[in-house]
Amino acid sequence: MNLPELSLTELRQALRQGETSSIEVTQAMLDRIVEQDNDIKSYLTLTDEMALEQAAAADQRLAAGEQSPLLGVPIAIKDIISMAGAPTTAGSKILEGFIPPYDAFVVQKLKEAGAVILGKTNTDEFAMGSSTENSAYFTTRNPWDLERVPGGSSGGSAAAVAANMAYGALGTDTGGSVRQPASFCGVVGLRPTYGRISRWGVVAFASSLDQVGTFGRTVADATALFQVTAGYDRRDSTSLNVPVPNYETALTGDIKGLKVGVPAEYFIEGIEPDVETAVRNAIAKLEALGAEIHEISLPHTRYALPVYYLIAPAEASANLGRYDGVRYGPRQPGSDMIDSVKKTRSLFGPEAKRRIMLGTYALSAGYYDEYYGRALKVRTLIKQDFLNAFEQVDVIACPASPTTAFKIGDRADDPLSMYLADIFTLSLNLSASCGLSVPCGFDSKGLPIGLQLIGNTLQEATILNAAFAYEQANK
Ligand code: GLN
Repeated sequence: MNLPELSLTELRQALRQGETSSIEVTQAMLDRIVEQDNDIKSYLTLTDEMALEQAAAADQRLAAGEQSPLLGVPIAIKDIISMAGAPTTAGSKILEGFIPPYDAFVVQKLKEAGAVILGKTNTDEFAMGSSTENSAYFTTRNPWDLERVPGGSSGGSAAAVAANMAYGALGTDTGGSVRQPASFCGVVGLRPTYGRISRWGVVAFASSLDQVGTFGRTVADATALFQVTAGYDRRDSTSLNVPVPNYETALTGDIKGLKVGVPAEYFIEGIEPDVETAVRNAIAKLEALGAEIHEISLPHTRYALPVYYLIAPAEASANLGRYDGVRYGPRQPGSDMIDSVKKTRSLFGPEAKRRIMLGTYALSAGYYDEYYGRALKVRTLIKQDFLNAFEQVDVIACPASPTTAFKIGDRADDPLSMYLADIFTLSLNLSASCGLSVPCGFDSKGLPIGLQLIGNTLQEATILNAAFAYEQANK
């Protein structure tokens, strides 16, 4: 048995049947990380000591016959999610050395489910980016081609899962940061409905858009992580107090009669021909499996990018105001309080500063109505597009990204071209939908391509099952 190559669900089975132990598998993963991660650089911090303690405890619980859903399974967490006793940097120097005193809701859930946490993965600073090049620490490399980015901002999590250095991982998706890196790294990435998972303990970027998501090597793996992390929590006022269905048993693979909409606005100029072909083939496969394909329109799609880049920076400029060196992270000494705060804030990287300036401008008196206020109105139109579409269809199918993974450095100096990396993912965050990316082939360079499936509010089971049916048919 080659332990790192097992899927999460296979490992879970092997652990329950006593074919391996959590200690053995955790050590195998840590060894693999030491071997591979010098090149890929997916982890910012390894929590190896804690992981081995958790593994030992899991083995005792396994020996006692306990069946917690992730008992003994090693996974990774994006370094924007707080975990007690380990650094949480959000990829920023302004949080360097910050050790949160508590676990985020999702970490509590993972621990309750018996998971072993291997470490914290790299991210663009405050999740602002599409490549991990905005991390203040280093750039993660795409396991399929080390010259290329893994996508972002949850690029560390996607790369760790793709390179068999974790059985699954958590990320966050504010505008595409789970689906886009999943598509670049050839893994499954789920962005649940806003509010489906409590964000308590997750460093805030844009509060009306942020949501935790899960990565897996298979649909079942991403679902298993989602199953244990979904849920209401009174400490996050935006979390939804609705029951968590059994997503795992919803994976039947039966999609007969499923209505799949294909939006014309997502097959535009600029999309790589290999991507278009792979996605269209995947849609044909869904049809062969019994789905009905419908042409649909999401007419306000072209406004999503400008609307997102007003709303997200506006909210970020408010959220980042708390980093003054007094409450969190390293404090830079200064001649007086103002001087100290100024020097501390110079620790923000260029992208965070750009967003703070953009957002502050969009919110300032005299410009609020023209920019932020107007963006909110157009956001309503975009939301309405999705509601109209979901009156006709159950699922929307389109590319997760117009391109496959680009080269490190190619877009780093051109913010606009970087922002375009999320052109197909941002609309969903502005609406109340959920979405995922599932691998659907490779381009001529051998780089993975992702099919994006979008579902109506809280219809995660529908998109997961459609992805599962597709994945099983392609085995
Ligand atoms: N790339 C987008 C941005 O830079 C989305 C990031 C995200 O989803 N966190 O804002």
